[in-house]
Amino acid sequence: MSSSLLMKVPKAELHIHIEGTLEPEMMLDLARRNGLRHRFDSVEAIRKAYQFGSLQSFLDLYYEGMKVLVSPGDFRELALAYFARVHAQGVVHAEIFFDPQAHAPRGLDFASVALALKEACEEAKVRWGITSLLIPSFLRHLDEDSAHRTLDEALEAMALHPNLIAGFGLDSSELGNPPSKFARVFQRVRDAGLHVVAHAGEEGPADYIRQALDFLGAERIDHGVRCLEDPELVRRLVKEQIPLTICPVSNWKLGGCKTLEDHPLPRLLDAGLRVSINSDDPAYLGAYVGENYGFCQSRMGISESLLQVIAKQSLADSFRPG
Ligand SMILES: [Zn+2]
Repeated sequence: MSSSLLMKVPKAELHIHIEGTLEPEMMLDLARRNGLRHRFDSVEAIRKAYQFGSLQSFLDLYYEGMKVLVSPGDFRELALAYFARVHAQGVVHAEIFFDPQAHAPRGLDFASVALALKEACEEAKVRWGITSLLIPSFLRHLDEDSAHRTLDEALEAMALHPNLIAGFGLDSSELGNPPSKFARVFQRVRDAGLHVVAHAGEEGPADYIRQALDFLGAERIDHGVRCLEDPELVRRLVKEQIPLTICPVSNWKLGGCKTLEDHPLPRLLDAGLRVSINSDDPAYLGAYVGENYGFCQSRMGISESLLQVIAKQSLADSFRPG
């Protein structure tokens, strides 16, 4: 399969933070339009700053970058730009993560951000036929009380807009913030009939993956690459058919592996794990989902037929109804 064919294979993206799709051009444009002073004065300067060696070094710039998003219209524009790009890469379904707690300090409440993103999702369906769902994430470096307040806001918004979101996730600084910290709030998420996903086993230990399953009831694990350090956990993930949303370029750029050739994806596949390929934060990492598929073929030697199976798997692992 040529890379252009690989781009056309229908696929779902299941691990995409919409704030991580903020391209430097749009960042500067929004800063100007919103009358904000920006630390960087050119696209080149921004791209030059994107040298990450760890999850935290990325998160620092990620939270700074999103400060240019100040009105609901900014979120709509951001999401539409993402959909336009991935439509050209064969994405027919996307499950969009966003970080409501990170926008609250700029006076953006849950409903205003979620409704603006929903509007973009509906527009993407009409313009490109892409289906999508919204999955807000709790920031794990904050306390559980803050997550409870975010869930209160979400449930309030859903009383008026029942299909506004499909579930909740857990993201941000992993080390030192185990899933067990959020057991009670995810109980409420499940009680509300919402799906649960969680970042685990990216920088944190394999045990965080086990905690995400046992304490949060996670149906999918985001990243999960460190499961390989625990054979018993691998056996469980295979047996229970828990999907892992793998983001190869993200792991490489944030220091999870030295080179793409060293990425654990081939070993995850050999172990019989259920995986999808995703981009995480493409504007910061320099690769959208299509490029991630391309690297799996060119740098990891994963066969085209297997990549087709993975693309099909991504649709099966989605929460898309029917
Ligand atoms: Zn992520």
